Amino acid sequence: MYGTRVVVLGAGIVGCACARELALAGLEVTVVDRGAAASATTAHGEGNVLVSDKGPGPELELAQLSRRLWPQVLTAVAERLAHAARAVEWEPKGGIVVATTDAGARELTRFAAGQRTAGVHTEVLDADALADAEPYVTREHTAALHYPEDAQVQPAAAAAALLADALAAGAVLRTDCEVLAAVTRGGRITGVRTSSGLLEADWFVNAAGPWSGELSTRLGAPVDIRPRRGDVLVTTPLPPTVFHKVYDADYVGAVGSSAGDLQTSAVVESTRGGSVLVGSSRRRVGFDDRLRPEVLSAIAVKALRLFPTLAGVPVMRAYGGFRPYVPDHLPIIGADPRLTGLWHVGGHEGAGIGLSVGSARLLRELMLDQPTAMDPAPFRVDRPAVLGGGAGTVVEEAV
Ligand SMILES: Cc1cc2nc3c(=O)[nH]c(=O)nc-3n(C[C@H](O)[C@H](O)[C@H](O)COP(=O)(O)OP(=O)(O)OC[C@H]3O[C@@H](n4cnc5c(N)ncnc54)[C@H](O)[C@@H]3O)c2cc1C
Repeated sequence: MYGTRVVVLGAGIVGCACARELALAGLEVTVVDRGAAASATTAHGEGNVLVSDKGPGPELELAQLSRRLWPQVLTAVAERLAHAARAVEWEPKGGIVVATTDAGARELTRFAAGQRTAGVHTEVLDADALADAEPYVTREHTAALHYPEDAQVQPAAAAAALLADALAAGAVLRTDCEVLAAVTRGGRITGVRTSSGLLEADWFVNAAGPWSGELSTRLGAPVDIRPRRGDVLVTTPLPPTVFHKVYDADYVGAVGSSAGDLQTSAVVESTRGGSVLVGSSRRRVGFDDRLRPEVLSAIAVKALRLFPTLAGVPVMRAYGGFRPYVPDHLPIIGADPRLTGLWHVGGHEGAGIGLSVGSARLLRELMLDQPTAMDPAPFRVDRPAVLGGGAGTVVEEAV
C-alpha cells in the first residue's frame, strides 16, 4: 500500500481523522478544502462524544468503538505533539439525562434498559444523587440517569490535532482549493479538477460534511447527504454551574426524528473557559444560515426548565451550523459502487465529532482490506436512503 495516493476531500473533523488513519498506515495523503481546515460544521457545533443518546444498533456500536478509540488516539497524538493533544480539552465528564414528565420518565427507563443490553453503562440517580451531581438542575424531575462514558472535546482543536498528526506522518494539506469535478476513465475516478488545478490519485474520499451530497453530484456519483441546521447559545463565563453534559430526555426523540420543522430540546454543558453552551435545535432549511430569534428563544425556554438558575445569565453570542443528515440517520462509510476509487465518509448528523475516529478506523480497514473493528455493512453506500431519491445513477465523465 506504500505509494498509494489518496486525496481526502474536506478538512473537517471527519476528513482530518481519515487523513490521520491513512497517513499513519503509510499511504500518500493529500487533504484539500475550499476553505481552511476545521472551519465549517466542525467549528459550528458542540464537542460531545456521546453514547447516551443512541439506542442499540450500528450507530451505538460505532459510538462505542469511537469512545474506546478517542483516549488511545489522543495518547498517540500526545506522544508526538503534546501541545496539540492538550488543546483538545478531552474531558470524560459523563452525561446526565433528566426527564421532567411521567411519560418522559417511562420512555427514558425503557430506552436505558435497551442500552444496558448493548453494553452501555447507566446508573439511575435518585433525587439526592442528582442534587449532588448537578446542584443547580431543576428539582421538578421525574427520572435521571447518569452515563459515565459520555465525554467532551473542543471540536476544532480536536480536528486540528488529528490533522497535525496526519501532517507529521507525511500528509499534505491544501486549503482554498475547491473541488469542482471528477476526471474518470473506464468507470474509475483518476483525478479531481479543483480551483487550483488537477489532482490525480488512486483513491478519493468524499468527506465534505453537509456538502457531501453536492460534492458527490459534482463527481458524478450522488449520495443523499443534506444539511440539518442547529443553533447554540453561549453564556458569558460563569462560576461552576454545570458539571456534566446535561440534557432533557426529549433530546433523544429529536435526534431520531426526521421532521423538517423546528425541534428543540435542552442540552446544556460547560466549557473549560466557563461559558455554558445551551443547545439545541434541528431544522431542515437548506443552507440558510440566518439566526432566528424564535429558535434561540425556544432553546432558551427549554434550557431554563432544566436549569432555572440560568435565568438572568447574559448570553454572549449565538451560532449555528449544518449537521450532515442522511434520511435513515446512519452515516455512510464505504466505497462507491458506481465509481471505482471513490469512497464516502459522512452523514454523521449531530454526532460527527464523536464518531469521527471510529469512522476513520473503519475506512482504513475497508480500504486496506483488513479485518474490521465492527460490521461496516449498515454504513454501506448502496442502501436505499443513500442512493434513493434520484441519487442512484452515476454520471459518466463529469468533468
Ligand atoms: C449545532 C450543532 C451541534 C453539534 N454538536 C455536536 C456534538 O456535540 N457532538 C458531535 O459529535 N457532533 C456534533 N455536531 C455535528 C458535528 O459538528 C458534525 O457531524 C461534524 O462536524 C461533521 O464533520 P465533517 O468533517 O463531516 O464536516 P465539516 O466540518 O463541514 O467539513 C467538511 C469540509 O468540506 C469542505 N468542502 C465542502 N465542499 C467542498 C468542495 N467542493 N471542495 C473542497 N472542500 C469542500 C468544507 O469547506 C468543510 O471544511 C453538531 C453540529 C451542530 C450544527
